[in-house]
Amino acid sequence: MTPLPLADRYARFRDAVFSGIEEARLPGFAEPLTELDLQSLWFAGAFGSDFISTEGKAVRISDFGTWNSGPGPDFTGCAISVENQALHGDIELDPDARDWERHQHGANADYDRVVLHLFFNAPQERFYTRTSQHREITQVVLNASMLAHDSKPNRGLAAARLGRCATPLHAMEASRVQSIIESAAQYRLELKSKRLHRCVAAQGREEAIYQALARALGYSSNQQPFVLISQRLPLKGLLKLDPAKREALLFGVAGFLEVMQESDTKPETRAYLRKLWSEWWKARNECLRWLDERQLPRWKLKTIRPGNHPQRRLGALGTMLNAWSQIVAPLADATRWSQVAWRETLLALAHEFWSTHYTLLAAPSSKPIALIGETRVQEMLANVAYPLLVPERTRLWAEYLELPALLDNQKVRRAVLRLFGDDPRGKDFTKKLHHQQGLLQIYEDFCLEDDSACANCPFPERLKEWS
Ligand code: SF4
Repeated sequence: MTPLPLADRYARFRDAVFSGIEEARLPGFAEPLTELDLQSLWFAGAFGSDFISTEGKAVRISDFGTWNSGPGPDFTGCAISVENQALHGDIELDPDARDWERHQHGANADYDRVVLHLFFNAPQERFYTRTSQHREITQVVLNASMLAHDSKPNRGLAAARLGRCATPLHAMEASRVQSIIESAAQYRLELKSKRLHRCVAAQGREEAIYQALARALGYSSNQQPFVLISQRLPLKGLLKLDPAKREALLFGVAGFLEVMQESDTKPETRAYLRKLWSEWWKARNECLRWLDERQLPRWKLKTIRPGNHPQRRLGALGTMLNAWSQIVAPLADATRWSQVAWRETLLALAHEFWSTHYTLLAAPSSKPIALIGETRVQEMLANVAYPLLVPERTRLWAEYLELPALLDNQKVRRAVLRLFGDDPRGKDFTKKLHHQQGLLQIYEDFCLEDDSACANCPFPERLKEWS
């Protein structure tokens, strides 16, 4: 069927009317989340895989399928069971149950294979989801309480001032303070580990590692766009392609090739861009849905240092995929882990273009720039390697404790100020990565939860119980 241009124009017009709903504050979420955010969290397994339907039936997801790049439901090729009865088909996720009818999915044969309709809001009166063949579809209502604690969106910063706990902390022996921070760090690592292993359960081990490494490349401002790209371009598909096609897909789905004109390029960048474009135009039609403005990753480019520009980081992701077997082997089995060898593999990565360019349009630098530097390796160790491996080989915890603190983090600085003020011990407790991680956990659990300027925070009193 040929799309009708006026209908398409009106659809865009009316969808803009409903865009307020798609970005609305959903029950239980402190911050507005877009439909895209919710789909990404779902696909990463952040809501879990066992649910109860609106009719009280047990629903289990055994395969989260593929994020659909064309017309039709959000996720295709999924496997679920309802009361132990296996079903294969597609899954649609909407902010509101009524979106099914608003978007006319019930009259669209593309949605006839849907076996599960997920939504967050529902009208008071009973709402049934039906296909164009009048088959009733199982419904599951999702909410924020299902979302694992560590998957909740960023909660901002607490005020920069000395906290009430600074006095009892100052009076405590250093070994006790160390013990609290180390315990909080281990708790944080366990949370990260659970998140990663949820993703392993939803997507398989290598896909989960790939998505987690992509997230680490997006740190700190562009984690979600990187996760989104890795979810939409699964590892198993990318590894079948040659490097040029792979890079073209990464940059194309990121939306970076859509906005470039030949006239923007300089002779030094033109050859690489032409290579990307010559592959992208062949794949582009398959990805049209993702090129819609509301589907594109929301890149944060302001206040980004040139070395952290997402285009450069995407170049690094493509380069990591070129050396994937070397990168994944130490993570595939905890007994084969070698921190030194893994670090060396990452630091040695190089690319014909990205080892000398900060962005797709930037002139080449006079000297090669490390594609993945020490701080990026540290980010990957802290958020991928050790969370994945420590629960599988607990002696790696001792190795984790020795990692130096390389990451500069505004929240850590804020936590040190609040907990230690000008106590010189504050510096001692920020020398290692686990110090930073432990302080971040305390900061998120107590400082960000407190709205009483410390007056009602239980942390200072609890310190007395810590032995
Ligand atoms: S909120 Fe609690 S943990 Fe944070 S600075 Fe105040 S007393 Fe300390």
